[in-house]
Amino acid sequence: MPVPAFRKLFVLPVALFVGVISVATVARAQAPIQITADLSEAARKLYHAEIDIPVKPGPVTLITPEWIPGTHRPTPIVDSITGVVFTANGQVLSWRRDNVDMYEFHLTIPEGVATLHAHLDLINPGRQTTRLAAFEWEGLLLYPAGIPTAKIAIQPAVIVPKGWGVGTALTPGLTGSFASTDVHHFAPTTVEQLEDSPVITGLYYHQFALAPEISPKHFLDVVSDEPEDSKMRPSTIAEINNLVREANALYKSHHYNEYHLLLTLTDATGGQGLEHGQSSDNGVGEKDFSDDAHQLGVADLLSHEFTHSWNGKYRRPARLYQPDFATPQQGDLLWVYEGMTQYLGNVLAARSGLKNQQQYREMLALSAAQLDYKSGREWRSTEDTAIASSILRGGSASWSNWKRGQDYYQEGELLWLDADTLIRKLTDNKKSLNDFDAIFLGKGGNTGPLIVPYERPELIADLNQVVPYDWAKFLHDRIDLINPRADLAGIEQGGYKLVYEDTPSDAEKTLNKAGGRRANAIDVWYSIGLRVDKEGAVSDVRFHGPADKAKLSPGVKIYAVDGRVFSGDSLKAAIEAAKGSTEPIHLILEQDGFVTMADIDYHDGERYPTLVRVEGTPDYLDDITKPLTTPPATK
Ligand SMILES: [Zn+2]
Repeated sequence: MPVPAFRKLFVLPVALFVGVISVATVARAQAPIQITADLSEAARKLYHAEIDIPVKPGPVTLITPEWIPGTHRPTPIVDSITGVVFTANGQVLSWRRDNVDMYEFHLTIPEGVATLHAHLDLINPGRQTTRLAAFEWEGLLLYPAGIPTAKIAIQPAVIVPKGWGVGTALTPGLTGSFASTDVHHFAPTTVEQLEDSPVITGLYYHQFALAPEISPKHFLDVVSDEPEDSKMRPSTIAEINNLVREANALYKSHHYNEYHLLLTLTDATGGQGLEHGQSSDNGVGEKDFSDDAHQLGVADLLSHEFTHSWNGKYRRPARLYQPDFATPQQGDLLWVYEGMTQYLGNVLAARSGLKNQQQYREMLALSAAQLDYKSGREWRSTEDTAIASSILRGGSASWSNWKRGQDYYQEGELLWLDADTLIRKLTDNKKSLNDFDAIFLGKGGNTGPLIVPYERPELIADLNQVVPYDWAKFLHDRIDLINPRADLAGIEQGGYKLVYEDTPSDAEKTLNKAGGRRANAIDVWYSIGLRVDKEGAVSDVRFHGPADKAKLSPGVKIYAVDGRVFSGDSLKAAIEAAKGSTEPIHLILEQDGFVTMADIDYHDGERYPTLVRVEGTPDYLDDITKPLTTPPATK
């Protein structure tokens, strides 16, 4: 598509805070679109919308969002929009989809018509069960093309099953009740802000006011399939309170009028973590916060998505921000947007107690080892994983290690740890990345929801403000260049070393015990170089690793190991038996209906990553994960 003429107006110079449009001003400027989303048929995997759009006679093009912020790619939700009917003054109007842009609807508005009515259905919208529903507005939004979404006023309402609680950052208005449903009206906003304001609703709904001494207000809104889950454990609620206090102490500013951590607990649908300026849409399994073991697997979810309110929503990479949801977004700075958030999300989770310091270090080891053994780093830079973000999400596990995935998350975590420990080293621990974050994420002081774009030179200038250094080269070397090894400097400057031991770390054992995908895997990645499940199915082979040299392929199934029927135990026993020996590990395999044999020439035993302390060096890693605040004595 051609670049819309208004685009240049909205890519603001980095330091320029003028021209930012407040929601209230826009909402008064024109009659708002009225949209009512009906979530009352969530259990049947159907949502509906009734939309009234102010129009003038003549041709009109309406669009529905394509590039959804936070997903960093075009989202094919348009194929789930069904039952589209336009009416005006009681007459059905014909419409035609654009031949090229599947997100555009063309109509001609007759004379005498000032309001166009649209009905839409959304099928299989995502996370909904008989007890709860989550709703991201892009699935049912419709608005005129060619106008910045920050300039289109809209007034929302949602219909939910009677008695269900509603959690959202939208400003509440009137509510009404019908025989089997309730309707919740909200204050006018803009299309940009509405897209940024999801709604969760459920029969078992609890709202927790968080850290009441801090302004503005923060809430945790929880819905669950089972009544006991949304009550949450008192220890977890205390930790989430700590999270608000720690974020407040770290960022020293906020960019929301109030903030809602929205959380759905269900096993019936997949997980979710989508950031928004004044809320975050978090979805996990129904028992994921019910004990410490399960909680470890999701410990950084809330802190990651909350951090995005500052890093990603308020401060947005310039070309990742587009004034509509139609112009392609450019992801080259996602190692800041996601990478620094990955770092800060984990740090805040540790500072808040959602995981402990040892768990932080052991999880960091798992992540660093994975990157250090990622063969695709031989041909692809971290920046390329960010630029190519829109084509790297999901996909097959086959050779994914050679391909690389959205590595800018974890590469960014190591990069910002490197920067944090380097600042501490250069300043004798008097300054840290905390100082950079307060500058970079807090410019302009406290604000309501706002998007302020940036480019790389601003990061460099702000880092230099904390401590002078060749930060341009620092970032260039780590992001733009091909680096065959992961950036382990932050771990080492932090007083630790990445090592491989013959038993898994406590954190890895805990994650395996908690179940899920990991529990079905046998960790032999750092030894023979295979991703294999308990049935012997191989999903990936580490390029250049021992199993690769033995010509194993993703998709093969291991039947037998050293003459014994395959099991996790028999495979590990064979790896141990081959340690220090010259005899290879003998495998019998099935591939595409044929039986083959392979010998893996590997003799170094089992290997599991962890961090060990280097005595006599500064322990910055543990300084970084110490709380900045003291929880109230009542904890
Ligand atoms: Zn993120």
